[in-house]
Amino acid sequence: MSTADARRALPSVSALLETESVRSLLERTPRALVVDAIRRTLDAARRAPSSAPSNDADWAAAISSEVSRAEQPSLRRVLNGTGVVLHTNLGRAPLPRAAIDAIARVAAGFSNLEYDIARGARGSRYTHCAALLRELTGAEDALVVNNCAAALVLVLDTLSNGRDAIVSRGELIEIGGSFRIPEIMAKSGARLVEVGTTNRTHVDDYRRAISAETGVIVKVHRSNFEIAGFVADVSARDLAGLAAGHGVPLLHDLGSGLFVSLDEFGLSGEPTASDALRAGASVVTMSGDKLLGGPQAGLILGSRAILERVRKNPLTRSYRVDKLTLAALEATLALYRDRTTALREIPALAQLTMAIGPLRERAEAIVRAVGAASVAVVDSDASVGGGAFPTARIPSIALEIAGRAEEIERRLRSGEPAVVARVADGRVLVDLRTIFADDDAELARCIRSAIA
Ligand SMILES: *Cc1c(COP(=O)(O)O)cnc(C)c1O
Repeated sequence: MSTADARRALPSVSALLETESVRSLLERTPRALVVDAIRRTLDAARRAPSSAPSNDADWAAAISSEVSRAEQPSLRRVLNGTGVVLHTNLGRAPLPRAAIDAIARVAAGFSNLEYDIARGARGSRYTHCAALLRELTGAEDALVVNNCAAALVLVLDTLSNGRDAIVSRGELIEIGGSFRIPEIMAKSGARLVEVGTTNRTHVDDYRRAISAETGVIVKVHRSNFEIAGFVADVSARDLAGLAAGHGVPLLHDLGSGLFVSLDEFGLSGEPTASDALRAGASVVTMSGDKLLGGPQAGLILGSRAILERVRKNPLTRSYRVDKLTLAALEATLALYRDRTTALREIPALAQLTMAIGPLRERAEAIVRAVGAASVAVVDSDASVGGGAFPTARIPSIALEIAGRAEEIERRLRSGEPAVVARVADGRVLVDLRTIFADDDAELARCIRSAIA
């Protein structure tokens, strides 16, 4: 049959709607969805007549898979084979089981979100994680908002609207998704006063910039890059001393939200929330979904007097945290009462600190399950991601899939669930450090169908 003949031979929409299998599809699917799916299936058949369905059963299968595609949620689960643990594009930290359970409990019914049960009166949502945050970090007071960017805007707006915010030129960083510290500072109405140079800033640079107009001194953690060579910056402790001497608050934007030291796992140099507070910062800001390993949130920790002013700032209402976040954050924070529990139960920490032996065993089992010569176990380097420990390489194990890299990467990504792999030097790697052991069998199936 010529192409033109094949095209002419395509069934009509109404004929397809009358077939037995499409009629049964209509019993459980809205008609409009089925008609759309039929149109798309016919379009595809017109574009590629040689692979068009040739009998009723094939048409029904093609239409039904179009319907499934349309019914798929936009936001869905993927397998992270990138080896980047806190991958911003893949949703950063996976939540601990306790946090998921807490969300389910709060989401399903009513809660005391803004209700004081003991007094039987209106309460405040801001009380919920505050005590736990104080206990875990030694902070005098704590406030949770939507994310760290919001936390930063709020604190700057509160402390320096119309006044000077002094910051080192070496810390005017971009965090990703075009979130730039200088632009955020400008938005908050602070007058940015830059001191020092890109590579070197001294305590005298800050001292000379302090005046009656100073609202705040800002220290921004260089979370996503490092500079080396002829460099100097002022420690949080020295800056805190200077700030206190002039009666000016010091804001330390930490970003990462590390709550336990990971030194023993070769991840050092990132200050914990308590370190930053002990160094003397008046206020510290950080994310909930980076190294903390909880939900997206912005944590503001520090002086009671300053947090009182932040709470009264009308902008706070615009960045207010929702109940599901509070539920997940509280459950995640509670795990930090015991360091071993935190390292085991918080997926981001568990993945970062996992020994390499079990990863290799899992990789070998997956290779056996796939049963194809093109899949091999190789050494790999995983990384922290999410703007923390930017240069740290974590020894890891990956599956290397031989063949046409771009094609294999695309096929892995088009599967269900999608597997997001890493392509390096023309090689496709699926890093096991960021794959949950429970998903190994599913990963094996996905790889098998991608190389079929
Ligand atoms: C990531 C980061 C932020 C922004 O945090 P979000 O929670 O993504 O808004 C701010 N400051 C620093 C230093 C960061 O690393």
